[in-house]
Amino acid sequence: MMYRLLFAIIVVTSLVSAVTAQDYHSYSNPAAVRVRHVDLDWDVVFEQKILKGSATLTIERISPNEPLILDTRDLKIDKVETSADGARYEVGTFKLGESDKFLGAPLTIPLPPKATRVRIHYSTSPGASGLQWLDPAQTAGKKSPFLFTQSEAIHARSWIPLQDSPGVRVTYAAHVRTPRNLLAVMSAENLSGPARDGDYRFRMDQPIPSYLIALAVGDLQFQSLGPRTGVYAEPHTIALAARELSDTEKMVVATEHLYGPYRWGRYDILILPPSFPYGGMENPRLTFATPTMLAGDKSLVSLIAHELAHSWSGNLVTNATWRDFWLNEGFTTYLERRILEAVYGRSREEMEAALGLRDLKEEIVSLDDRDEILHIDLKGRDPDDGSTDIPYEKGALFLRHLEETFGRARFDQFLKSYFNHFAFQSITTDQFEDYLKQNLLNKNPALAAKVPVDEWINKPGIPASAPTPSSPAFAKVQEQAHLWLESKIKPAQMPVAKWTTQEWLHFLQTVQTVLRSPGSVPESLDSAAQSMGALDRAFHFTRSGNSEIAFQWLLMSIRNRYEPAYPRLEEFLMTIGRRKFIKPLYEELAKTPEGKARALAIYRRARPTYHPIAVTSIDDVLKWPGE
Ligand SMILES: [Zn+2]
Repeated sequence: MMYRLLFAIIVVTSLVSAVTAQDYHSYSNPAAVRVRHVDLDWDVVFEQKILKGSATLTIERISPNEPLILDTRDLKIDKVETSADGARYEVGTFKLGESDKFLGAPLTIPLPPKATRVRIHYSTSPGASGLQWLDPAQTAGKKSPFLFTQSEAIHARSWIPLQDSPGVRVTYAAHVRTPRNLLAVMSAENLSGPARDGDYRFRMDQPIPSYLIALAVGDLQFQSLGPRTGVYAEPHTIALAARELSDTEKMVVATEHLYGPYRWGRYDILILPPSFPYGGMENPRLTFATPTMLAGDKSLVSLIAHELAHSWSGNLVTNATWRDFWLNEGFTTYLERRILEAVYGRSREEMEAALGLRDLKEEIVSLDDRDEILHIDLKGRDPDDGSTDIPYEKGALFLRHLEETFGRARFDQFLKSYFNHFAFQSITTDQFEDYLKQNLLNKNPALAAKVPVDEWINKPGIPASAPTPSSPAFAKVQEQAHLWLESKIKPAQMPVAKWTTQEWLHFLQTVQTVLRSPGSVPESLDSAAQSMGALDRAFHFTRSGNSEIAFQWLLMSIRNRYEPAYPRLEEFLMTIGRRKFIKPLYEELAKTPEGKARALAIYRRARPTYHPIAVTSIDDVLKWPGE
């Protein structure tokens, strides 16, 4: 009885929180009718670039007279049916509302009194914002087409009619038919076994928010990395990927040690073709990752630490609305660095944290005050606009402040109990604050007085008492950069043999900051561009195969008009679609008339190969006139 009573209290609490968390980015009405499970059934039609099939939603009726309201974007709805438990499906009515630029269109389905299931027969549109269809030429292997989804933030509605709010969690099952010889994978347990017959079944029994439903189809191979870890990639990439990701199992073990058990069964990674617009996407059981992280020396695996960390912060405890996005990303960025420290040592953590702080300070210069707030107001805006360094780096710095103030042991214990307490729930910033007060601040009032929690969460900028992560290794790099800039040493005299990617990035950023002020180039060189030439001759940055170093170098090349790097810049923009890289490069180009003309010429050719999410961003940067 005790258990039953407890259960009832938990149900009531979660309903109340669902009602109070208003999601401005969903038309749905989960407080009245709540979707609990989704059965998906599709044909993947590459010729038409569409998914065609049905979604069957199992619903819970809370207010019996209310209709079901779903989110959609550019879906073609053929037919809607409803059914009471176990009974035959009857054709029902529906109304597709007007489409909003950001939100898509509401699909309203009146419900017969006993209806508990709703089946929607539909197909997606070829331009669906959450799907990218790649021609064989856009893949690594060049032989087979490829499809992948990206649902976060509100793109699930462009391929599934559902309550597309992170406050609504569902379990799902799927039956996917593809051309024979292609493999389908999802953010779920694969029930089909290894046969490649074009007929695949999946099941996700743990309730997840809609933005974590994911599908990819392509010529994929699998390689095991450990007892519960592995990697999928195109045949061309699989060996490189498996070498680069060989520490994955170690990372899972390290994270469990810090924050409690990994609760999702397997942890696999899918390496996508280069047009994937993000670094990684934390789809449960199956992280989607950019191939630009495969540097050959494991120097960019912080990305995997990040996506893995989301298995706790984000997937297990989820932001209830996109206003609360920092609960996902700030926590995850903090956890990412803790994982790196556990696996690769404190020095690596210090370097990553110092780079993060630098990026944050640089970005804050150009942000409006309203966009510097962790608990950001995104009403009337595209939630993807909130994806700046604020939720990631400012959020992580806030948690670091708590850690440094309360001590690591106490803070780790707090985080562990936080993940347990809110496991498989979607929570608001207010809920986090309450929990923080009750379980950390109020228990240690003298220490709590040192952390301006309200300022961290609700005010722009960085509080004056914020920690300043620093790296002794970086101090040495900085010294070398200055010696060279002051003409005291030649590039060949720098002790670079053991420099890591992070040290090189810091070196370049230091040089860039100095070059920006006039009259600051080494004496023997006339211009910033000449200085870059000297570095390039010594260190071959233009030819770097490391995507982060190449990106930093190309950005500097635009700023300093270093023309020998221009062909590489064009090649980079033509082959990589990761928004983190291409958006700043186009922004930098667009600052001068000649640069803008060059940007438009490149973009005209690159645009058809970019993901719809990247296209939206770059169209905006270049005020793309359309053609
Ligand atoms: Zn993340």
